[in-house]
Amino acid sequence: MRSNATAPNDRPAALSYHAVSHSYGRFPAVDSVSLGVDQGEIVCLVGPSGCGKSTLLRLGAGLETLQAGEVRIAGQRVAHSRSSVPPEKRGIGLVFQDYALFPHLSVLDNVAFGLNGDAGRLRRNRARTSLEQVGMGGFSEAFPHTLSGGQQQRVALARALAPEPRVLLLDEPFSGLDARLRAAVRDDTLHVLKANSVATLLVTHDPEEAMFLADRIALMRDGRLEQIGTPVDLYYRPRTPFAAAFFGDVNRSGGQVRGGAVATPFGRLPAPDLPDGVAVDALVRPEGLALTLDGDAASVRGVVDAARVLGSSSLIHLTVLDENGARHHVHSRMPGQFLPPAGSAVSLSVDLKQAFVFPSEEAG
Ligand code: ATP
Repeated sequence: MRSNATAPNDRPAALSYHAVSHSYGRFPAVDSVSLGVDQGEIVCLVGPSGCGKSTLLRLGAGLETLQAGEVRIAGQRVAHSRSSVPPEKRGIGLVFQDYALFPHLSVLDNVAFGLNGDAGRLRRNRARTSLEQVGMGGFSEAFPHTLSGGQQQRVALARALAPEPRVLLLDEPFSGLDARLRAAVRDDTLHVLKANSVATLLVTHDPEEAMFLADRIALMRDGRLEQIGTPVDLYYRPRTPFAAAFFGDVNRSGGQVRGGAVATPFGRLPAPDLPDGVAVDALVRPEGLALTLDGDAASVRGVVDAARVLGSSSLIHLTVLDENGARHHVHSRMPGQFLPPAGSAVSLSVDLKQAFVFPSEEAG
């Protein structure tokens, strides 16, 4: 398998897209996307259903004919509008949601299948090593139909990694698994990917999964890249209301900037870079709204409608009044068990790291 040697800064990305566009008929599924994945890096493509994630992945694999732009692997052009290297010559591994194992081949033969160039014994040894890496060393002689979904997905991963690809492309690899198994398989997958130092592009619609796996997250919207960055960038420094809302529930409020701040039902939020009079959207994550039962009279007050424990945190539904006396329904998420009875008066304080003010999208 690949070493963990660090790449020199000037090395080309293991996989890169350059102004790639793709339409189905007149519908633009991918619109001028540029994106690079470095050796050893995991980039997760996320976004709502239909935003173009799978199309972008398939263009990288060569499963879709590129219409505009370029795809390069290790700096070599593998696709542009007039020519395309076929998928099997690109040095990529592929893993899909449905595993796509051959039912008539044993687990070992499934994994050995892609190792064409090597002699039989060497192929089988490499396939065994790859199976051991994903914890499936004891299942070589089993047939796919005797395995659980999680085990089949591990075999699919072993098969993709056995030829030591430069790039691994995974399309919703865990979505066929139930929640518990999904958590276990993706944890193992993360360790295997990092141990192999392979450049990975993984499609998921699940923001938490992306944050769990990714070194960087590429958020797509309507065929375009909305924002790309580390999980911390996307979660704590979203550049648009869409990006802020994609990574979890948000409390929203409109407002106008006055003296470098905006009054919201949650309290005053700073807006230092926006001029007076600008209409804004203010968003606060529920986990950015802390409640106290005996708050001081100067803070924003709310009344609890309901509180539910969600496991490691509690979700509290509140009614708060804004400056004009209008009622707003607000969510707060508090760590652990915090379950004030309905009707309790509480004070709200905002964690400004989880509060975002954007010029109103409607204002254009
Ligand atoms: P999902 O999360 O639902 O899988 P996605 O973000 O992966 O969605 P794509 O599968 O890339 O999105 O599809 C992008 C758009 O292109 C969608 O509107 C889809 O309906 C359309 N589309 C995808 N494949 C084809 C096709 N073969 N023919 C026509 N339209 C297609």
